[in-house]
Amino acid sequence: MNLKKFKRYPLTFGKTPIEYLPRLTEAIGADVKIYAKRDDCNSGLAMGGNKLRKLEYIVPDAIESGADTLVSIGGVQSNHTRMVAATAAKIGMKCVVVQESWVPHEDAVYDRVGNILMTRLMGADSRLVDEGFNIGIRKSWEDAMQSVIDSGGKPYAIPAGASVHKYGGLGYVGFAEEVRAQEKDMGIKFDYIIVCCVTGSTQAGMVVGFSLDGRANKVIGIDGSGTPEQLRSQMYGIVTNTAKLVELDQKIADNQIVINPDYAYPAYGVPSEETNNAIRLAAQTEAMITDPVYEGKSMQGMIDLARKGFFKKGSNILYAHLGGAPAINGYSYTYRNG
Ligand SMILES: *Cc1c(COP(=O)(O)O)cnc(C)c1O
Repeated sequence: MNLKKFKRYPLTFGKTPIEYLPRLTEAIGADVKIYAKRDDCNSGLAMGGNKLRKLEYIVPDAIESGADTLVSIGGVQSNHTRMVAATAAKIGMKCVVVQESWVPHEDAVYDRVGNILMTRLMGADSRLVDEGFNIGIRKSWEDAMQSVIDSGGKPYAIPAGASVHKYGGLGYVGFAEEVRAQEKDMGIKFDYIIVCCVTGSTQAGMVVGFSLDGRANKVIGIDGSGTPEQLRSQMYGIVTNTAKLVELDQKIADNQIVINPDYAYPAYGVPSEETNNAIRLAAQTEAMITDPVYEGKSMQGMIDLARKGFFKKGSNILYAHLGGAPAINGYSYTYRNG
């Protein structure tokens, strides 16, 4: 496997810490040990998160293209558009982000706080569009690119979640290599990796990276999209493309991709009471903040699977914390009493 041949533009601090979570482990009460890899603390750019690992491999291509404007898309409280806005500011480009009404959620300040506030603050042209949730390529995004061309600019396209981009999967191949090195230092091995999945390239990169030591199917994706079939086919495409890019000398079969659809209810961006209780448990045992769109759902999934005995006894479980905490500001009413 060869990841080194790709250019990487540093946007993160580097290696992220892995920490043991003793109080969460105890509260879950199963015979497993819970660790977290803190990709939510990976950068000084506007609070960081998983999208920066992907963007590190995309930025060199954007710069080489001669573009002057990054164009991307997400929901109103999108972490991804915040990270694209941050990247544009950092590399001195303009930024246009389309923000669609992906989430059927009403909070008085939903379109004013958290991610979208920071996106605007960093100078991005944030355009609110009335369209429902979809992880695929959108017309509103193509329209935004055309508008940049029409005004004499040169756009560079970054799809939702930086996933369906030729280099979108590379960042999380690097995550797997980093975990392997940390495992050596720590003298332990993780039996399972828990990751939230929505647009797919985070898990896709991990699947490629962990396939090297036979752990592709130990990456347990917890779906947050509510459209797991579309997600699976998008993820499989990214796995195949990424494996080819890094010259992986084995084929990854579709059944190596594990996506659990059981925790995405009631809808993308809307937490169930069980999700909220998982968010409260992580906050009250470890002061680890997870959000109602992504990490709260993977936290709920991990807790539930552990209590149901899904993981073999004595397992070490690595929860990949991908960021997303800024979105909680858009849920001020939901958490008004904690
Ligand atoms: C984008 C995002 C995810 C999902 O990652 P994908 O690569 O889109 O599957 C999970 N958690 C957070 C906090 C995110 O911002």
